[in-house]
Parts: sequence; C-alpha cells; structure tokens
Amino acid sequence: MARPAIRRIGRNAARLTGDIFAPQVCALTGTAADSALGPETHRLLPALPETRCPRCDGPPGEELECGLCRAAAWRWIAAAARWEDPWQRLIRRWKLGPEPALTPAFADLICELIATEDIDAATCVVPIPPRGRASLLRGGRIVIDLAWSVATRLRLPARLLLWPERPQRPQRGLQRRARLGRDQAFVVRAALPPGTHRVLLIDDVMTTGATMTAATRALVASWPGLDVCGAVLARAWTEGGPGTIAHEKTL
Ligand SMILES: [Zn+2]
Repeated sequence: MARPAIRRIGRNAARLTGDIFAPQVCALTGTAADSALGPETHRLLPALPETRCPRCDGPPGEELECGLCRAAAWRWIAAAARWEDPWQRLIRRWKLGPEPALTPAFADLICELIATEDIDAATCVVPIPPRGRASLLRGGRIVIDLAWSVATRLRLPARLLLWPERPQRPQRGLQRRARLGRDQAFVVRAALPPGTHRVLLIDDVMTTGATMTAATRALVASWPGLDVCGAVLARAWTEGGPGTIAHEKTL
C-alpha cells in the first residue's frame, strides 16, 4: 500500500524541484529542452498582429493608440502573445494544474519581453493579486510567484502592494457601468521601497483592461506621478477590441 504514496511523494518532489533534477521537456512541444519552454516557443506562440496599440499591445484605435489607453494612466503594458491556443491552454494548465515548474520559463519570457523597455533600478515589481478565495484556490497565488521570479531575474525589489478591496464577483455578465465603477477595486497596503519612481505590474492575462486600470488608479492615487508599466503573458484580442463598449458587454 505504501507504493502509491511513495510514487505520489516522488511526483510531488519532481514537481517542486522541477527544473533542477527532473529532465526538462518543453511544455509546448513535449520534446527535450533546457527549460520548461524550449527553443521552438517563439515560433509556436500566437503572435500579436503587427498593427496594434503601441501602449497596451491591444487592438489599435483610429490613430493606433486605443481608447482604453487614452483614458489610462499607465505608460505601457507589454504582452508576450495573443490569448489563443496553444498559449491559452498552457497558461490555464500552469494556473489550474498548477504547474509551478513553468513559472521560471514564463519569467524568462517576460524579462525578454521588457528588456528593451525602460526598466531601471528605481523600478519595483508588483503582482496583480488573486481576487477572492475562489481565485486563490484556482492558482491565483502563482501570479505572485511569477512576479517574484521576474524581480529576481531583473535584480529589482518586489512588493505585494495591492489587495482586493472586497471579494469580487466574476466580471462576466456585469454591465459596463458597474465594471467601470470599480475604480477602487484595489487598495494599497504596503510601502514602495525608497527611491522608487516606477512600478512594473505583472499579470497573466489582460482582457478588457479593467483590472489593469483599477490597479493603476490605486497606485497613482497613493503615489501621484508614479510611472506605471506592466507585462502580461497574454493579451486578449477580438474584433471590436478590448476596451470598446461592444467588447466589454460580451466578455
Ligand atoms: Zn492601448
């Protein structure tokens, strides 16, 4: 009877020690690789269209910058790929599995994504926190680990600054007015390291932009003039586009 338990312990140990002891297999191709995402990753990721909003990597507005960014206080938000399969399936596996062995590979990808952007030593990495108990159970904590992993690679401080103001219902089905009225969706409950003038927000997926908007507003309300940037693993991209009324009503 002990064998299944031993196997389970072995599996868990392999999962926890992941990229240190177990042979690596690319999560996208299933072939041997140096990391959980192999060299084919860039070719396999659903690419963002070339014509896109320069500030949020979303669908463009009439003059490239989208309506969402015209009203937003962030400077830029960079996305690694479109929220489509096989990337979408992999991010869900990472969060819901959960498969923490993917976290270092995702952190590498984010660092690569923002390497050419203006991140300097006065930047603090801040995760978008899981909202509500259900989200925590579904693996929301893993985004916090991702932010820590990004900060370690960039040799920057990380802070869990933002907390949900109250347990939230899922956004699906809410009227746009109710959703936009959630300006205070996050409260700030920690201090920035001295000398910080920029925050790099980290989240898994950006869909309507409502969460990033709320996080940015909470940060700027606490630190007027703070430079807010962000990076996400995936950006939802649909006709009509995130940030438009038609899109928000259907999400
Ligand atoms: Zn935009």
